[in-house]
Amino acid sequence: MTFKELNLDREITSAVSKAGYEEPTPIQEKAIPVILKGHDLIACAQTGTGKTAAFALPVLSMLKDKKPRRIRALIITPTRELAIQIFDNFKKYGRYLKLRAVCIYGGAKQGPQIDALLSGGDILIATPGRLLDFMGSGYINLSQVETFVLDEADRMLDMGFIGDVRKIVKFMPQQRQTLMFSATMPKEIELLAQELLTDPVTIKVAPPASPAETVDQKLCFVNRADKNALLIRFLQSGEVRRAIVFTRTKYGADKLVRALLKAQIPAAAIHGDKTQGQRQNALERFKSGQYNVLVATDVASRGIDVPKLSHVFNYELPDEPESYIHRIGRAGRAGENGISISFCCSEELEKLRDIEKMLKKEIPLLETEYSAPLVRMPAARTASAKFSGHSARGGHSGRAARTDQARRDSRTGRSDRTGRSSRAGYTGRAGRTASGEHTRRTRHAKSRMYSSATSGGGFT
Ligand code: AMP
Repeated sequence: MTFKELNLDREITSAVSKAGYEEPTPIQEKAIPVILKGHDLIACAQTGTGKTAAFALPVLSMLKDKKPRRIRALIITPTRELAIQIFDNFKKYGRYLKLRAVCIYGGAKQGPQIDALLSGGDILIATPGRLLDFMGSGYINLSQVETFVLDEADRMLDMGFIGDVRKIVKFMPQQRQTLMFSATMPKEIELLAQELLTDPVTIKVAPPASPAETVDQKLCFVNRADKNALLIRFLQSGEVRRAIVFTRTKYGADKLVRALLKAQIPAAAIHGDKTQGQRQNALERFKSGQYNVLVATDVASRGIDVPKLSHVFNYELPDEPESYIHRIGRAGRAGENGISISFCCSEELEKLRDIEKMLKKEIPLLETEYSAPLVRMPAARTASAKFSGHSARGGHSGRAARTDQARRDSRTGRSDRTGRSSRAGYTGRAGRTASGEHTRRTRHAKSRMYSSATSGGGFT
């Protein structure tokens, strides 16, 4: 199916092809006709499926020819990052239309947002708290809302926003179209849907392929003191076009940026201590290619839409194994296989074990000139090492672990008892090309999302 066959206006299909989208994703194919017919909708779809365009395109299409500058579409989403991302998408898809979107969210100055509201808008994208604040101050009138989109409803629930949503809905006309998007459908969300929606059509789409399957993952055992040097080697190798480097702490992120700048590598950090403006600025400059390296903590990275990352580096392994999946999911979103390279020092072996347990496989080792002779700790051995009072951490965590590794090595044909892989492509200096090793699994390209950095245009 093509976008044209979805009966979207020409201005919208042109904007979509300018964004580089060739065909609708499954959620778009299913949701757009339902929304254009005016039905209420419950869509079970995760981020990464193209769900934003699934509601943004028909909403733009429906508003296009009507009297402008009244809030006729309201989109509520749980986080400011998502709000900005949705706003950017509306700008991108509405670039050839005369509609105007306004975005309001907490954690940023009220003044510019109030000015934007006072100038009038057709589409309002908001986080619940800020919306209620502004409604209380009389800046917002929801009486003309025709389409209400509740985005990431299950996350709203997790974040305790459902009460706010119920309050907001009271200020909208009963006669409206309501679209609910949620990755999962817990009981409370089902109840909320019964309350807010009328005869909804329900659609479900499969979650996008797990990054654990699509991203080419590598592991480097390296001493903590060598991590900066190793990262710089990778970044200077010419292989890395665009990368996010994840650190565990905000302090670590800032320190690393200073080290990269000293090595003449343009980089910026985004983390929770930065103001919203600083984060947005760093993100914009990264998107525009001014920096090719963004250093981020997990919290700051959630919900940001960064196109075309060739590499994700785990400078430090995350505390939560699930964060590893979120992190590496940032790689390879541009129709080609992304690469993730994780650094692991002796203090992080336990975290590595938890990650590999979740992945149900070992991450292949990549040998570099900074390779440290560490061994992975088998779970059972770790436990007995702890019982006997020996340290379960450290590079050589006891005979038991080494013996077990040696056994595995003999099975896999490795001879190096230090745990270094004799299969890894990176047999020399980190600066050498690793591309021979990175098989391009283009068959995954179709199942994953493409993104475009373009935005702006006639749509303000
Ligand atoms: P979302 O699930 O809305 O967060 O979208 C995930 C990514 O997919 C975003 O970067 C979009 O720009 C991109 N995208 C959305 N629709 C399409 C499409 N039909 N073809 C290619 N990429 C798309």
